[in-house]
Amino acid sequence: MVDFAQHLSRIRASTLSKFGLSNVSSWIEQNLFLEGKRFSFHNHEFQRRILDDTSPVSMAVKVAQIGMSTISYAHALACCSIMDHWGYGYVFPSSGDAQKACATRINPMIAESPEIKRLVNPDLDNTELKQIGSSFLYFRGTKSDTAGLSISLDFLTVDEYDRCDFDTAAQYVSRLQHKDTKMRRLFSTPTLANYGIMKESQTAKRWRQVATCACCSHKWLPDYFSDVKIPDYSNSLREITKQNIKDLNWTQAQWICPKCGKDPKFHDTTLEWVCENPEDNYQANCWFISPVTAHAILTPSYLVNVSTQFNRYSEFMNQSLGIPAEEEGEAILPSDIQRAYVQAELSDSSLHVMGADIGQLCHIVIGRMTHGGQFIVVHRERVPLANFEERRRQLCSAYRVRVSVHDTQPETHLIQRITDYDPNAYGAIFTTSKSAGMFTVVNKEEDPEEGKLNMRRLNVGRTAALDALLAVVKANSLIIQRQSDLDDLYEQQMLSLKRTQVFDKQGELYYTWVKTDGEDHFHFATLYCYLATHLLGTVNSPGAIAAGLPLVSTFKNRT
Ligand SMILES: [Zn+2]
Repeated sequence: MVDFAQHLSRIRASTLSKFGLSNVSSWIEQNLFLEGKRFSFHNHEFQRRILDDTSPVSMAVKVAQIGMSTISYAHALACCSIMDHWGYGYVFPSSGDAQKACATRINPMIAESPEIKRLVNPDLDNTELKQIGSSFLYFRGTKSDTAGLSISLDFLTVDEYDRCDFDTAAQYVSRLQHKDTKMRRLFSTPTLANYGIMKESQTAKRWRQVATCACCSHKWLPDYFSDVKIPDYSNSLREITKQNIKDLNWTQAQWICPKCGKDPKFHDTTLEWVCENPEDNYQANCWFISPVTAHAILTPSYLVNVSTQFNRYSEFMNQSLGIPAEEEGEAILPSDIQRAYVQAELSDSSLHVMGADIGQLCHIVIGRMTHGGQFIVVHRERVPLANFEERRRQLCSAYRVRVSVHDTQPETHLIQRITDYDPNAYGAIFTTSKSAGMFTVVNKEEDPEEGKLNMRRLNVGRTAALDALLAVVKANSLIIQRQSDLDDLYEQQMLSLKRTQVFDKQGELYYTWVKTDGEDHFHFATLYCYLATHLLGTVNSPGAIAAGLPLVSTFKNRT
C-alpha cells in the first residue's frame, strides 16, 4: 500500500496542474479509451458543453441512445482521477442497474484506459465502490434494500432520474457536503410533463439548441413534427404506422427549413445553445438534448422508421424525441373533464354515495351509479377538517347518502369513530400488491391484534382502482353537475395524477399512478365515491342506519 500511495502522488503531480472540473472533457479525450480507440467527441460535440458545465446542478433531458450514459461514466472516472479526496456517488434506478453498468460498461472502460487503471486501488475495486487515486466512487441504486450511503459526497450523478425512487434519490442529495465544490448532475429521458426530470427543469436555466439554416440563415427551434418532411407525403408524421410505412418514401425523409423550404444542413457550427429563461436566477442548468442536437446519429429517416417500432407512441416521443408525452387513451385530458360537466340539476331522490379525501381541507364528492353504468357526480365540496363531521351529517341527509368511503389517513381516529356509528361508512387503505383487484372489504374484528388498524375498511388496489375510474372517464360515463366555483380546481386536480410505467425492485416494468403538478384531493375523493357506488348494492338490509339516517322502506329491495 505504501508503494501505491507513492505511485499516486507521482501521478497526481502531473495531472493536477492541467485539469479541473471545467475541462473534464479534455482529460477524457486524452486518457480514456473505448473499444480500442481513444475517446472522441466526434459526432457528439454537444457532450463537451454538458461535461464541462461547472454549475452546482446540471441536468439533461435527453433522447435515448446518444451515449449519455457512456460520457457520464467517463465523467465519474475522470473526476475521481483529477480531484483529490473526493467522494463521488453514482446513482442508478436500481442496485441491479448499478452492478450491471459497473460490470459491463465501467470496468471495461477502466481496463482499456491505462491512466485510470494505474490509479485504481486493486484492493478497493468492486461493483459498489472503487478507489481511484485518493477519491472514492460509489455506485448505488434507489430501489434496493441495501444500505444507502453514510459518507459525505462531493459530487452526485443520478442516471435515468424518471425511473428512480425520488425519495431515495433525495436522501443521496443530502449526502452532499456543505462546501463550495458540491455538485449534482441529473439526467433522464423524460416521461410525463411536470414529473421527474421535467419537474426539476422548471427550476433551472433551460438551454435548447437553436439552428441556423445554411441556406437562408433563418434561426429557429426545429421540431420533428413540423420540420421533418417525407417526399410526396403531407399528412401528419403521427399517422405513420408499421402498416403504412412501406408505402412511403421514408428513407428520403429530411429536415426542411420552415423559411426557405430547403435542407438547413445541420452542423455543430450552425447549432447554438440558447437559454429560454435567461432572466431567471437559477443556479441549475438544464440541457435539452433533442434529435437535432444528436443530428449526426438520429437522422430523419431513422426517426420516422423507429416511430413505428414502439408499442406506444408516447414512448417514441420520450425516447427518440426527448419530449414528455402520455398516451391519450391512458390519461385524463382536460377535454374529458370539460365534456363531463353539465349545467343541470342532477341530484334526485335516489340513494347516493359519498367519497371524502381527508386533510386540513377535506374534499367531498357525492354521486351515484345509474343502471346504465353512468357515474353521476351531483355535488362537490371542500370543508375544513374541524367542520367535517358535522357537514358530513348534513350532506348525508340532504343527498340520502347510503354508503361513504373516506381515506384513513391522516385522521385515523376520526374515521374510526365515523365507521363505529355509521355501519355503511368505510375507511380506505391502499395496498401495493400489483395483483390485487379493485378492492376487498375488511370488517372490524372482535379481537384485533394490538396496534393493528381496526375499522371497517376497504383495502384498495391503487392502480386497479384508478384504472377503473379512468375507464369510466374515457367511456364518457362520468357526468358532473357544474359548480362554477369548483370546476377549474376540480379539473386541475383530476389531471395531476398520471398513469405511467415504472420499474420495480426486480427491474420489471409496471404501471402506476404518480402525482405531477398540484394537488390531487378531488381525484381521490372521486375515486372513493366511485368505489362506494360498488358497495351500494352489497350493504346490509333495509332499516339499517346509513350515515346516521333511517332508511325509508321504498328501498328495501335494494340489498
Ligand atoms: Zn432556410
